[in-house]
Amino acid sequence: MRIAIGGIANESCTFSPLLTTLEDFRLVRPGDRQFNELYPFLPAFPEADFFGTVTAKALPGGPVQARAYATIKAELLERLAALLPLDGIYLDMHGALFVKGMVDAEGDWISAIRELVGPDCLISASYDLHGNVSERIMGHLDIITGYRTAPHIDTMETRERAVTLLLRCLRENIRPCKAFVKIPVGLPGEKTSTEWEPGKSIYEAIPAEIDGDAVMDATIQVGYVWADEPRMTACAIALGKDEAAVSDAASRLAALYWQHRADFRFGVEALSIDECIRRAMAATVKPVLISDSGDNITAGGAGDVTAFLARALQHQPPDLVYASITDENAVQRCLNAGIGATLRLIIGGKLDNLNSQPLPITGTVEFIKPDKVNPQVLLNSNGIRVILTARRASFQRRQQFLDLNISPEDHQIIVVKIGYLVPELKAMAQLNSLALSPGAVNQDLLSLTFKRISRPCYPFDADMEWSPAVQLF
Ligand SMILES: [Zn+2]
Repeated sequence: MRIAIGGIANESCTFSPLLTTLEDFRLVRPGDRQFNELYPFLPAFPEADFFGTVTAKALPGGPVQARAYATIKAELLERLAALLPLDGIYLDMHGALFVKGMVDAEGDWISAIRELVGPDCLISASYDLHGNVSERIMGHLDIITGYRTAPHIDTMETRERAVTLLLRCLRENIRPCKAFVKIPVGLPGEKTSTEWEPGKSIYEAIPAEIDGDAVMDATIQVGYVWADEPRMTACAIALGKDEAAVSDAASRLAALYWQHRADFRFGVEALSIDECIRRAMAATVKPVLISDSGDNITAGGAGDVTAFLARALQHQPPDLVYASITDENAVQRCLNAGIGATLRLIIGGKLDNLNSQPLPITGTVEFIKPDKVNPQVLLNSNGIRVILTARRASFQRRQQFLDLNISPEDHQIIVVKIGYLVPELKAMAQLNSLALSPGAVNQDLLSLTFKRISRPCYPFDADMEWSPAVQLF
């Protein structure tokens, strides 16, 4: 069996003015070391020959530049064309790609592939559960399967499942029927984690719907809410050999999600910036971790929104680490001045100039992490240690702090530009809260202006009524 592998993955926030460029994408091509890191399970399928094309992944951010998308798409199609004929294609996707000026970018990507390879080649895709799915996508894919955990700890498992399903369908000559139910609900990942209720029970209901035959797989997509475009919704999908069985499975999962729409809650205390700081200053344990959620880089925030830091400078907590503000100029000035220098800087508020403004700060350069790609600086302003990064960086691992000579356990308050805490940060936190701060991924959804999403949609139309409508593909 000849199987090609490719894909494009980006969570693109339409409320961010910071465009995602070609340089922001990591392009993995055949022969690259990262190819084996992305797909280490391939040797377990000796019956297939796998051919890499291009897999493009970028840190979540603003809309992707049209030119960048066109370049990556052209390379993918060229590499696929050179591999024809193919029995199957595995697409490693995310699902929340937004290309400036385009509606349903993944629909465009997948239909271009289908047009090239024709109707007989089976196409299987794996999705992040924060991906938005359209009818166009469902129409051109044969298999789609999504993560079942958030925070995502089943990424590899999901990729492998997409490949396993693809090879089985090829081997047994199955063209699965697919049931798709759009659920008109748009909620943030911070409320829909699978670590607590109701997300936990809803996702635990998925395996029970799969019998491996009539229903070969099922997926619930939470979707990505900061994408102001028509395909932004949650959905339930089931695929397998039996049309009635997949319809019933997708309907049941969709109804379950809808039934709990008003029960989704933040997993930690969600407070104003001021309340988060006050609570952390009064805490008797350390470290207290605070999520500066409106500028959550892992959801598409620009990484230079200064609102939280501005409030922290007002409150003057004796010991706070702020991770981080992206500001290339400020980093360069600190590098030039060197360790021990005291500088007056105006930081941040430039990448996301819609939701933030530059902030004046005086501090001493305490530590420098020299790095060719992304040098970082620790600036100490009266005990408030601000990590400045030349490029956008999301602090999710303890080692990133250690690299800056910060031992997290020794500090009272640590602020990260993230939403829910990833496992490593959670393990570190003795107490944590989520700050309802401004930014491109503001958790106060009703304060954002949506113009293009399909309405009605919960929670924007809170009183709407709905019952599942199955679309078969
Ligand atoms: Zn996700």
